[in-house]
Amino acid sequence: MMFGVIVCPQCNHVKSVNLSSMTTKCIHCGKTLQIKKLKIFYETESQEKLRKAIGLLNAEFQKKNETFKKVLNDENKAKRKAFE
Ligand SMILES: [Zn+2]
Repeated sequence: MMFGVIVCPQCNHVKSVNLSSMTTKCIHCGKTLQIKKLKIFYETESQEKLRKAIGLLNAEFQKKNETFKKVLNDENKAKRKAFE
């Protein structure tokens, strides 16, 4: 059986899918995702490699989210300053 790692386009939740399925449901936001339309970040037959890949991608996406939040915060601060 082939497994893939996908990222929910709606909430950035990283999850594994069975690549022989047509759809998968995001456990985080509940959206039903068409596997064919998703980017497969990683493909493997090994459950162990699958878990590792999910861990790595999760860390990567969390970092990006943190950076994004930081940028937003800085922008808000800059805007606030401009009005003071
Ligand atoms: Zn989701």
